[in-house]
Amino acid sequence: MSHSVIVIGSGPAGLTAALYAARANLKPLMIEGLEAGGQLMMTTAVENFPGFPEGIMGPDLMAAMRDQAQRFGAEMRRGNVTAVDLTRRPFTVTTEDKTHEGRTVIIATGASAKLLGLASERALMGHGVSTCATCDGFFFRGKPIAVVGGGDSAMEEAIFLTRFASHVTVIHRRDTLRASKIMQDKAFAHPKISFEWNTEVEEIRDPGEGVLSSLTLRNHVTGATKQLGVEGLFVAIGHVPNTTLFKGQLEMDGNGFLITRDGTRTNVAGVFACGDVQDHVYRQAITAAGSGCMAALDAQRYLEHEAAPEVRLEKSPEVR
Ligand code: NAP
Repeated sequence: MSHSVIVIGSGPAGLTAALYAARANLKPLMIEGLEAGGQLMMTTAVENFPGFPEGIMGPDLMAAMRDQAQRFGAEMRRGNVTAVDLTRRPFTVTTEDKTHEGRTVIIATGASAKLLGLASERALMGHGVSTCATCDGFFFRGKPIAVVGGGDSAMEEAIFLTRFASHVTVIHRRDTLRASKIMQDKAFAHPKISFEWNTEVEEIRDPGEGVLSSLTLRNHVTGATKQLGVEGLFVAIGHVPNTTLFKGQLEMDGNGFLITRDGTRTNVAGVFACGDVQDHVYRQAITAAGSGCMAALDAQRYLEHEAAPEVRLEKSPEVR
């Protein structure tokens, strides 16, 4: 049996796409992935999703979105997609145990924030460690914090965080920034921002206490280590879009993000992409949800057109 719509990924983009497709009676199949719910499952309170004046916990928001999509008939399947074939129709989407066929595919596989890879970073994620200044900056009002990274994201986050933090220390592994000149100039000129150059975060304390109180920094040129007392650490060392499955089949930019045009259309007709997998600029739950809605409407229109293709009229000769 061929599904009208297969949604791959279950963050805000995928769940909104599934909700809209379900309400259009398209009975979407969603492959949720093993880490269902996406990046919001790693956050604590979400205070910027409209409609929740008191805030909502990230996992609770995802559970509510999932319930809403299911209520209208979206079918959810756990498990990872291991292969897709977008070169033939119907498209095929293979999971560990089954191959599914779809007339349209909506890709909402998201992006993953790159992490330093320390055990203490995982342990304190959402408890002092964050990968999203827009989401969590507010919790650090009047507190000293640090940002790791030397690119545009790190500078943007550092500058944004000065609205809340008493001081922002940028920790960068080299002695020059990768960020654009204008962002560098803004960061250098800011009285609340200072830099630790040639420096790596060796340890984040204190997972045993469940709160972040300091960082152990190592300058890899001098070999010296020191403690930096901060209450927050924002890891801004880039994002990796989850697009390995689509290499060679869909157009991507130099960083591997899917390229969409004219709404959420990819270069393959009938395949749509929404959320962070195609957006390295905004990366918000609300923008992901908005683009998920767009993808479902685009898929719906594509299916309607497929069912009743327009009669293509020959171009009328130019009237002279
Ligand atoms: P990026 O440009 O790839 O920069 C990542 C930074 O993190 C680099 O400075 C890198 O150090 C550092 N880094 C990477 N892995 C690390 C590790 N394991 N430990 C410590 N440091 C590590 O990523 P981005 O800043 O997220 O930007 C991505 C793209 O979006 C860029 O094209 C950027 O221009 C764009 N962007 C634009 C804006 C804007 O225009 N407002 C805002 C955000 C992002 P090295 O420098 O040593 O490699």
